[in-house]
Amino acid sequence: MADSPVELPGRLAILPFRNKVLLPGAIVRIRCTNPSSVKLVEQELWQKEEKGLIGVLPVRDSEAAAVGSLLSPGVGSDSGEGGSKAGGSGESSKQDTKNGKEPIHWHSKGVAARALHLSRGVEKPSGRVTYIVVLEGLCRFSVQELSARGSYHVARVSRLDMTKTELEQAEQDPDLIALSRQFKATAMELISVLEQKQKTVGRTKVLLDTVPVYRLADIFVASFEISFEEQLSMLDSVDLKVRLSKATELVDRHLQSILVAEKITQKVEGQLSKSQKEFLLRQQMRAIKEELGDNDDDEDDVAALERKMQNAGMPANIWKHAQRELRRLRKMQPQQPGYSSSRAYLELLADLPWQKVSEERELDLRAAKESLDQDHYGLPKVKQRIIEYLAVRKLKPDARGPVLCFVGPPGVGKTSLASSIAKALNRKFIRISLGGVKDEADIRGHRRTYIGSMPGRLIDGLKRVSVSNPVMLLDEIDKTGSDVRGDPASALLEVLDPEQNKTFNDHYLNVPFDLSKVIFVATANRMQPIPPPLLDSMEVIELPGYTPEEKLKIAMKHLIPRVLEQHGLSSAYLQIPEVRSKLIIERYTREAGVRNLERNLAALARAAAVKVAEQVNTLRLSKEIQPITTTLLDSRLADGGEVEMEVIPMGHDISNTYENPSPMIVDETMLEKVLGPPRFDDREAADRVASPGVSVGLVWTSFGGEVQFVEATAMVGKGDLHLTGQLGDVIKESAQLALTWVRARAADLNLSPTSDINLLESRDIHIHFPAGAVPKDGPSAGVTLVTSLVSLFSNRKVRADTAMTGEMTLRGLVLPVGGVKDKVLAAHRYGIKRVILPERNLKDLTEVPSPILSGMEILLVKRIEEVLDHAFEGGCLLRSRSKL
Ligand code: ADP
Repeated sequence: MADSPVELPGRLAILPFRNKVLLPGAIVRIRCTNPSSVKLVEQELWQKEEKGLIGVLPVRDSEAAAVGSLLSPGVGSDSGEGGSKAGGSGESSKQDTKNGKEPIHWHSKGVAARALHLSRGVEKPSGRVTYIVVLEGLCRFSVQELSARGSYHVARVSRLDMTKTELEQAEQDPDLIALSRQFKATAMELISVLEQKQKTVGRTKVLLDTVPVYRLADIFVASFEISFEEQLSMLDSVDLKVRLSKATELVDRHLQSILVAEKITQKVEGQLSKSQKEFLLRQQMRAIKEELGDNDDDEDDVAALERKMQNAGMPANIWKHAQRELRRLRKMQPQQPGYSSSRAYLELLADLPWQKVSEERELDLRAAKESLDQDHYGLPKVKQRIIEYLAVRKLKPDARGPVLCFVGPPGVGKTSLASSIAKALNRKFIRISLGGVKDEADIRGHRRTYIGSMPGRLIDGLKRVSVSNPVMLLDEIDKTGSDVRGDPASALLEVLDPEQNKTFNDHYLNVPFDLSKVIFVATANRMQPIPPPLLDSMEVIELPGYTPEEKLKIAMKHLIPRVLEQHGLSSAYLQIPEVRSKLIIERYTREAGVRNLERNLAALARAAAVKVAEQVNTLRLSKEIQPITTTLLDSRLADGGEVEMEVIPMGHDISNTYENPSPMIVDETMLEKVLGPPRFDDREAADRVASPGVSVGLVWTSFGGEVQFVEATAMVGKGDLHLTGQLGDVIKESAQLALTWVRARAADLNLSPTSDINLLESRDIHIHFPAGAVPKDGPSAGVTLVTSLVSLFSNRKVRADTAMTGEMTLRGLVLPVGGVKDKVLAAHRYGIKRVILPERNLKDLTEVPSPILSGMEILLVKRIEEVLDHAFEGGCLLRSRSKL
């Protein structure tokens, strides 16, 4: 900034400056659009090499001036008038327009300015030229004489500001020194106030130290917004003392106004309620986000969530609760710790089917029966019970019928029966797996205070199925256990109780949910592990395992068509003849259900699918290789003419394979190739019972009945009994008991010459239950253990075609056991022809399908001696009847 006084030429072209005052030291930017000012700029500035000086005169706004552009006062003033004498200092000169309209008020003092920057623009399409001039005010002048030069004005001027030497003298004046000190102090105060508000006033502070004080006065005043009159009077303050005191007054006034404004804002801010503040902050946040281009508008998300919640049909009290939670969410920032959990919770509330139901159509019992028959082979009793259940629902739709519980080994169709019920009722079906659920929270949910808390499986299931009246399958209800984390069974009891499940309380949800419209169906492998109260609340329907004949029928009628369809095949590609299916059942599966059978069939289908897909590929490939273009075709194509294509039949053999493939028929070679060598055969029992000490037992596991071999052996030792094979306490005791009984009856059983000889004299006994990785327990191995020990000590082989089950007392009585039907079926699967059963299990035999019974010899016994009699070829040679 130039602080040295400028040499003014006597004459200056004058730029009128409407309603504004340019003060020395200030910088302004003017847009010149008016023809006369454009001309002025063009002639006085643009075309001159050196961007010379120009005078800037303030003009008062007038209506006439307002019609034109900002710089209009000169318009029409080229009347040829020589000029007018300017009035005395501080007065405005008047110049009438040519047609005598509004006079233009020129001020008699102005500021000489230097053009710092000039830019020229051409407006389109008019082609009008405009200029933007950046001017820096340099020093005051007064107008001596104003005259027109073409369309603009020029003036004879005389300089008003002091020259450098004059200034130096004036600065010695003590009054001026005092005044400038006062000004600086006020200015400093203003700067420090501004500094608190914004940090960019540092440069102003530097000015205070470097720029002479008379200049500072102008610069400071120029930077405030003050009235035109005040600016004019500043311009008129040619005298330094006057100027300084005026500036001090203006700066002080500005300072006070800032302080007052600040006070008011503080007061108002204090009065702003919390919510208003929040609103303001939120607005700011939104503005910031917009600036950042952050368009994943959370606000909109929340609004969408609210809309979803409104449509969820919540009961009034829950809606209130949800709204409270939503308000909380609104106040949170997405980054805040509780935000996502709160949001997830509200999403759950919005997603839950509070009212939504799937329409139940008029139940057609005949159709339901047909559909059950279509999907399932056999199971007449089960189907009958399901039809009864449906019939009751038809008569009384809101009847609180019993909860059906299908009990049976895996793969017997429990799940698919339950889904058939859903189909018959036209309801959605959802399966909740309860296997391994030990924590009550799995059923009831975790309280929301826990990190990672979530709703229980039931509520989660309902959210997934999104209707409040599905058929819900509680799968493997026998696999829930209780431990320190609570008792899932008691939570289930509440779920199944029609009185309580109307207001089921999930800990996570924390508001009651009505489960009464849900139809519950449960499945279990075994009844024993189900806690009695829970079992009591359900109606058990047992599904026995299938006989091989039934399995064959299921495979032919249901599994094979389904498996083929699942693999994109049909009988045109793959055929599995009945004999092969039978082989699969006999050699590759040994299960109560049909799951492995289905798996094996699927393996065959996969193998066939690969072959078929390969064939189709080769076919397509060979099709592509065929060149179908001919020269004629080429030339016609080149002409752009339409080509009529003749379809030429492909080679006979290829099309034949493609269109009508000869189906792949599964034979034994393919069976072995795909499924591997046979896994089971009828000879297993015979092979394993090849030496004394091995007997064949029948046990019951969660997979249904199983054949369990028991192996005993003796070796040199001290009379100890070793037991292996993951045995539970009960079975261990049975082994102890069996050994005691055999030792006590050693002489009678012809195992030792006299009764006073110790059978275990210098030998240990080891009993092992193969399939060592599978845990075993239960009392029903008693008779099998005795048989195996007798076989060991008598060195006689047990009959391989005979299997047995039964609990034994110390006195040799055989007590009834459970799972008889499954055990007999298991024996049948192993190809065992004779089964020894406790006599009191006779009643259970009615459950065994008659074709199986007819092919087997069932031997009912009361005492262990009878078991031994049946188990050995030629009977057990007892020396005498029991003396006990
Ligand atoms: P579970 O639930 O008892 O373990 P699934 O219902 O899953 O058994 O049944 C396994 C497979 O066997 C399913 O594909 C099912 O359709 C089929 N299946 C079981 N029993 C029959 C049956 N009686 N008739 C037709 N398919 C059956």
